Amino acid sequence: MKRLHSWSVLLLATFLVVRFASSVATQGKDAAKKGVEVIPGPDVSWSLAAAGDAIMNRRLMPFDNDTDPRFREMVKVIKGADAGFLNLEQSLFRQSEFKGWAEVENGGNYEVGPPEVALDLKAMGFTMVNRANNHTTDYGVEGLRVTDKWLDEVGIVHAGTGMNLGQASRPGYLDTAKGRIALVGFATTFTNMSRAGAARNDMPGRPGLNPLRVNRRYEVDAATFAALKAAAPNRSESSGERAENAPLRMFGATIHEGPETRVVETLNKEDEDRILREIKNAAQMADFVIVTSHSHEPGNDSRVPPAWMKEFTHKCIDAGAVAYIIHGPHQLRGVEIYKGRPIFYSLGNFVFHNETIDPMPADYYEGFNLSDNALSADVYDARFKNGTTGFPSAPWWYQTILAVPSFRGTQLTEIKMYPVDLQWKAPRSQRGSPRLAAGQTQKDIIERMTKMSSDLGTTLASENGVLMWRPGSRASQ
Ligand SMILES: [Zn+2]
Repeated sequence: MKRLHSWSVLLLATFLVVRFASSVATQGKDAAKKGVEVIPGPDVSWSLAAAGDAIMNRRLMPFDNDTDPRFREMVKVIKGADAGFLNLEQSLFRQSEFKGWAEVENGGNYEVGPPEVALDLKAMGFTMVNRANNHTTDYGVEGLRVTDKWLDEVGIVHAGTGMNLGQASRPGYLDTAKGRIALVGFATTFTNMSRAGAARNDMPGRPGLNPLRVNRRYEVDAATFAALKAAAPNRSESSGERAENAPLRMFGATIHEGPETRVVETLNKEDEDRILREIKNAAQMADFVIVTSHSHEPGNDSRVPPAWMKEFTHKCIDAGAVAYIIHGPHQLRGVEIYKGRPIFYSLGNFVFHNETIDPMPADYYEGFNLSDNALSADVYDARFKNGTTGFPSAPWWYQTILAVPSFRGTQLTEIKMYPVDLQWKAPRSQRGSPRLAAGQTQKDIIERMTKMSSDLGTTLASENGVLMWRPGSRASQ
């Protein structure tokens, strides 16, 4: 009897191990379909699930159940891809354990959530994240460091930050059943204090993010220049600049006389060269390279990317990237197909818990003239004037897509774009959590995305509530 009992325990254990192993192996990844051998190689078929910004401070995985089918289906899409990507635009730490503090400089807010955010993102199928953005050092270098540590703990690959410029520039590498994927991440929008510095033989580097600096030269036409000069007789803040067309220094800016009134934006050559070097290197070290930047330019309200950005995304593809993903503007922009590779000019917000960050630093309360007795609900009521201004006042900040490009090797074969609804009309406690969109919201997202992509030369078709791109639908260049 005892012998029989131990045999049955062994059998049960074997059964459970086999069941567990097979359920892990078939977990949405078609690499492991029974009887079909798939090994990495230049012609392997693979897919990526890509989302935009995550600002997350509440749990999401409780929604993954049969009573919330639009959340559950969305998670299935992410887990069904070979890699899941998003931009993590916040710090992760437990307030009671944190050894740092909120900095004076911040990305417009102090974005933070508990370490459980990393667990939920991993459980949803996100396996690689960008870390370079305007919120990287809201909580200083310590906030950067512990956030990266939590990602390492749960096994989410990250790129775009490091203890010096060399480390921040390095790709993150994700090994999948279909091949090795490199992620090169950087930001064009960031606070000055976030920029990583290079190490030297005689000086350690500075922790921070991988920057792509955008130089801005302010020019005004001759008439405006003359008017400004007349309005500011002591214009030159440094001695010796008295030539007729010497630039004016006013309001902290240097203003040049030019052919028209404009801001001329150019990319920092050193940053550009370093990033392109890393992409070329990554293309030798991995099977596929994904490039991503956090770029609010020219501003959140614009649905059109600046000319310099289009030029740079093309250079990155030419250097070996299979896809370029932009995030930052908090709303959608179109997709371009360049040499058979996708460029998403903004994937919008994916998780936008922007009104439940709690607690917040004293400076933030002071900015809204709130007393020491004010609490978090007061600060968000003051910031958004009870939902009548800023993000909560318009639907498009809460509407996005989950993009799933599929590839054969490095060549794009298809893109599926699933409209996602972040529940604009929900109460503060629920607003900003994503689910597959339905009804009118789904239609609005499809219509807007189709138009913006068409402006970039890309033809999309709507099929059963999903936006599709396939080769031959005109756009390939
Ligand atoms: Zn941002």
